[in-house]
Amino acid sequence: MLVVKKFGGTSVANKERIYNVARRCIEEYQKGNDVVVVLSAMGKLTDELIEMAMDINPNPSKRELDMLLTTGEQTSVSLMSMAMAALGVPSISLNAFQVAMHTTSNYGNARLKRIDTERIKHELESRKIVIVTGFQGINKYDDYTTLGRGGSDTTAVALAAALRADKCEIYTDVDGVYTADPRIVKTAKKLNEITYDEMLDLATLGAGVLHNRSVEMAKKYGVALVVRSSLTNEEGTIVKEDVKVERMLVSGVAVDKSAERISVIGLADKPGTAFRLFDALAKANINVDMILQSVGRDNTKDISFTVDGNCGDEALKVIEDNKARLNYQNVEIEKNVCKVSVVGAGMMSNPGVAAKMFECLYNEHINIKMISTSEIRVTVLIDVNEAERAANAIHDIFGLAE
Ligand code: ASP
Ligand code: MG
Repeated sequence: MLVVKKFGGTSVANKERIYNVARRCIEEYQKGNDVVVVLSAMGKLTDELIEMAMDINPNPSKRELDMLLTTGEQTSVSLMSMAMAALGVPSISLNAFQVAMHTTSNYGNARLKRIDTERIKHELESRKIVIVTGFQGINKYDDYTTLGRGGSDTTAVALAAALRADKCEIYTDVDGVYTADPRIVKTAKKLNEITYDEMLDLATLGAGVLHNRSVEMAKKYGVALVVRSSLTNEEGTIVKEDVKVERMLVSGVAVDKSAERISVIGLADKPGTAFRLFDALAKANINVDMILQSVGRDNTKDISFTVDGNCGDEALKVIEDNKARLNYQNVEIEKNVCKVSVVGAGMMSNPGVAAKMFECLYNEHINIKMISTSEIRVTVLIDVNEAERAANAIHDIFGLAE
């Protein structure tokens, strides 16, 4: 059996943790299995490297930043191999170059295109544990790239798919996927199983457990994922296509505090307005999420939308820079907002989930600023100061704590 095991930063934060991971991998290896280990940078090292960069130059080139950040993962894989050697087990660390993990060329947010598996297979055949750097790749210029924050999960899933692994285990500091973030909702419970689509919505919406592209990729290639703790022997949560247990109406509540809202007021109410606005944003690589357009009045209309927390100011600048072309009266940014969502594959066949959520917010006197829905999700935008109260009340009303 071939097993891919991915360990996050907290799982390799210090010497004891590194040895703990080494032992867990060796246990698997000693069962006769082939083991590929994917590691993140130790603890908060990636954040520290970014701080170092900003201190030297607040506006570093993306290429150089990736060159720097890839050293984080290189540190953990080499130390891990040394730990395994000290425990008497043969292993080898490989970075994105040595494996050859090809990505698109955009630094900081590259996508994996193709992974060469020969080197890894060759090392596995000689009965070594193979330890691979997460988060990094190489582009067509032979430069290092990174896959976006949290991208090691995606490396692990991509490797599992490329190697046709039997299992892909994502080890983290929590023991699985919860019905809500336990730091926000005290009564949150661990889920035994969840579908890819639900996980995708929870990941995108800021559940923070898995990199969303890793879930997309797992779904695409049918890689069954297990999310579990590196510190306990708990079973964890299985992420797969269909969940057999009696389907719950709602599987979880997600809070995403990184959202920001931009409102463009007084746009011309005629064809092409939305196109010009979102085209300008797309060209600047800005991801837009919820979009709301008002009913046209006196030949003008308003469009508001949300963006990821890091790019509100950037979006604002794009709109201001294009003022003449976009032809609007004014533009506003609101940063104190957050998204709260309920996610559940069960709502596809059960009406009333949205109504129940809105009723709950009404009971809490929480105002809804925007709403968006999909087949398996209802999201509201509310004041960030009400996030905790909203998440707890919604979690309760759907009986997730029981
Ligand atoms: N070390 C990278 C980060 O902190 C990648 C990862 O942890 O998955 O974002
Ligand atoms: Mg992570």
